Amino acid sequence: MIDSGHTEPREPFVIQGPLFTLLNDNSVNTYDYFDSGSMVVGDQGRILYVGPSVPADYSHYRIKKTQHLIFPGFIDAHVHYPQLPVIASYGVSLLEWLDKYTFPEEAKYSQRLYAERRARQFLELILQRGVTSAAVFSTIHQEAFDALLGAASYSGFNLVSGVTGMNRGAPDDVLVDVGLFKEISSKAMESGLGVERFRYAITPRFALSCDEEMLDYCGQLLEINPHLLMQTHINETEDEVLATSNLFPRSTDYLDVYDAFGLLGDRSLFAHGIYTTESEYKRWAASGASVIHCPTSNTFLGSGLFNASEYVSRNINIGMGSDVGGGFSLNPFVTMSEAYKVARLGGKVLDPLQLVYWHTLGSAKAINQADVIGSLESGKWADFCLIDITSDDIGFEVWERSRSVQEKLFGLMFLLPDSSSRVVETYAGGISRWRDTSCLGSK
Ligand SMILES: [Zn+2]
Repeated sequence: MIDSGHTEPREPFVIQGPLFTLLNDNSVNTYDYFDSGSMVVGDQGRILYVGPSVPADYSHYRIKKTQHLIFPGFIDAHVHYPQLPVIASYGVSLLEWLDKYTFPEEAKYSQRLYAERRARQFLELILQRGVTSAAVFSTIHQEAFDALLGAASYSGFNLVSGVTGMNRGAPDDVLVDVGLFKEISSKAMESGLGVERFRYAITPRFALSCDEEMLDYCGQLLEINPHLLMQTHINETEDEVLATSNLFPRSTDYLDVYDAFGLLGDRSLFAHGIYTTESEYKRWAASGASVIHCPTSNTFLGSGLFNASEYVSRNINIGMGSDVGGGFSLNPFVTMSEAYKVARLGGKVLDPLQLVYWHTLGSAKAINQADVIGSLESGKWADFCLIDITSDDIGFEVWERSRSVQEKLFGLMFLLPDSSSRVVETYAGGISRWRDTSCLGSK
């Protein structure tokens, strides 16, 4: 079960065990790894120290020893919580999948109790997998947003979300006119004010589901609120790109649609970006916007193969998302291993450190929070998980025989999802929020 931190004091402590973290120094391959490391967590839920041993200043703190790998909490930079029940929907591509499976499910989120149940379920499942932050799509409904905000706040989860904007191209029960969208959005932004670890994201679903008035309003919101983020989809399938160009004939390309309405900037997250053109790459790079790579969704729906090199070579920041329910798993290790396979099909070999970077620091940068999350470093939130690396015989053999940290991480990516080893405990803000009570020795 999810543990709420609201009833517990944040007692400072030291956790000792094997520890891995990337370091936030603008490089993807700087890291700390200790076979036996120590992390000091203060009473405000922040990290006070990470290193090989405990400094004298903290030697009186309670010590928790663990045999599990201490690892930064993952950040899922693109996921739809109302789509959990449509995971593994058979045999369709994106636009059919939306009509046949997704929109009927999303219509149910006007019911508060249903939305609350699904929000709690989503938070529990994602925390179980070591994810401590996410940029989450909701639906058009105030009830859906409130349910998610409430569940995230209760569980100490670091949430980015907003009310979805869509006023065409779907059944009436998942559409909202601009007047009502303004009303719901302003209530949602107000209810998020003062909620610790929440940031509002303006969320036009994608160009096909928004008319010019809707996109224009979203752009205005982004301009007048410098602390808000913006999340949407782009260039996911060829059919979608073609339909978008038909709907916006004056735009030169898909990115131009968003740019025309003020939605392209360094607070923007664009999921997918598979069919990006040369001119779009240039404009994208100049804007400081992030792309969110969602490999399990892209392979599952047959959308296409993301070309990471094109983004990396232009210094466009890449985050990583599960894109559940187009994606079939909330598990970051599944997502990272799928990204590796996608790159292999494009003739490239990705460094495991790069993959971890995208799912931690890259995603933190995408939501403009790399100063406080994404790695285990002094001053940041103590968001981390404990990964059991010893329970699975083959997995542990691979871990032990690996000659480098890269090889160890690579083994985890491919072996952990199908193994008796797993994430056994997840901390957000220095408090244990989920623990596998069946796993003896997790402490
Ligand atoms: Zn999506």
